[in-house]
Amino acid sequence: MTSTLFTNVNILDGASNGPVSGEVVVADGRITAVEPGGGIVPRADHRVIDGKGRTLMSGLCDAHTHFTWNSGGDLDALANMQLEEHMLVAVQSARILLDSGYTMCVGAASAKERIDIVIRNAINDGTIVGPRYLANAPELATPAGVLVHGITRVVSGVEDVRRATREICGMGADVVKLILSGESITQRVWAKDTYMTDGEVAAAVEEAHRVGKRVAAHARSTESIKQCLRLGVDIVYHASYIDDEAADMFEARKDDVFVAPGLHWLIATLEEAAAYGYPREAAEAVGYKEELDESIVGMTELHRRGVKVLPGGDYGFAWTPHGTNARDLEHFVERLGFTPMEAIHAATVLGGEIFLRPNELGRVAPGYLADLLLVDGDPSTNVAVLQDHDKLVGIMKDGAFHKDPDVTDLLAGRTAPELAGAAAR
Ligand SMILES: [Zn+2]
Repeated sequence: MTSTLFTNVNILDGASNGPVSGEVVVADGRITAVEPGGGIVPRADHRVIDGKGRTLMSGLCDAHTHFTWNSGGDLDALANMQLEEHMLVAVQSARILLDSGYTMCVGAASAKERIDIVIRNAINDGTIVGPRYLANAPELATPAGVLVHGITRVVSGVEDVRRATREICGMGADVVKLILSGESITQRVWAKDTYMTDGEVAAAVEEAHRVGKRVAAHARSTESIKQCLRLGVDIVYHASYIDDEAADMFEARKDDVFVAPGLHWLIATLEEAAAYGYPREAAEAVGYKEELDESIVGMTELHRRGVKVLPGGDYGFAWTPHGTNARDLEHFVERLGFTPMEAIHAATVLGGEIFLRPNELGRVAPGYLADLLLVDGDPSTNVAVLQDHDKLVGIMKDGAFHKDPDVTDLLAGRTAPELAGAAAR
């Protein structure tokens, strides 16, 4: 396997204070040396990549991904799509995420039983390209709490939840997803209402944990958030309506719980969905303005208390297309008061943590897997640059380029003098 020596890069490690210029060596899929200031003598087997002063950072993590959601936005179409077409949607989503700089994605429910699992396996064995993936299965909801009919496994009662959880774990999912609260766009099940009992939630947690798997939950209502925290749910999605008690409960579990608000879903549903036929007045009428305001207050407070808040915004709907995922980082900075470095930390270092591989994923440090982005810009001062795919000149996963920076420059017609100028800037 080729070794790669990156020279003249600004090394941006989410666990440090900011970029430092230097050199990085990758061999056998891992980062083997990080040398601030540089001075590494190239070996014969090194392919030398002149970073031209660009930023070298970890690939990003999206903590709430649905490969099986297409961008069409019609959820009934999602339910009615045949398996064969649906596989292709998921294959394409996986590629789009990697093309967008995401090397870690946490599956947050699959529209069909085994698609996530098969996609994860196909990525891992090299059949298709995509990020590292924690696979999910159809989300579990009670008959009264289904968000989307046709892509949900309906469960009722403790033993039914137990059976479903065991089956999902047995199929090979990494994460089991529970629908605890509603989603007000449905105008049928509401964000502030709670649909599962403590016994049902506890049964899912017990069975998943028994076999080393984790439980994630769609939890917008205050009561559902508290169920998650009280009963051992590992990943809390949305957590919109946090009161003081819920904030205390989060803080008490800050070492073992992750929260991903899915902020972009709320923002885009309110502010950008009109172009897709869902006017702002409609979103406000069912409470999305209030929910966004509450979510911003709550997440700001959780961040202040040191709770692990991760980007990941429920992409894959019409107004939240796959590939625009990095908008979440900008929201963290603009709306939640994260510094750009804190947002990068949340999208990289915490990505390694939510993958339960904190010593292998999410950092530019010796021993870490070489999942790297070469960015034409400085995300430590402007995270929005990560939204521009043209600025992601290099994308590496497992030490191999998915997007080769030399090819990118060649295709962009960047000539040697231009690049020399870029390096001098
Ligand atoms: Zn979701």
